[in-house]
Amino acid sequence: MIDRYCLCGHRIHVQFSKRENRWSPTFWSVVKYSGHKRFTCPVCGRKLDIDDLN
Ligand SMILES: [Zn+2]
Repeated sequence: MIDRYCLCGHRIHVQFSKRENRWSPTFWSVVKYSGHKRFTCPVCGRKLDIDDLN
């Protein structure tokens, strides 16, 4: 589990899991939706993409 930051500054936990021989990221919010998988940033609504996170 690593921490990344959305462009708006919101912190997102990223967990990598191996799926069909590829590592795919799963995003977890640590504030508003603790423990829930997220596909968009809860603050700015941006679609979460591992390449876009800081
Ligand atoms: Zn954001």
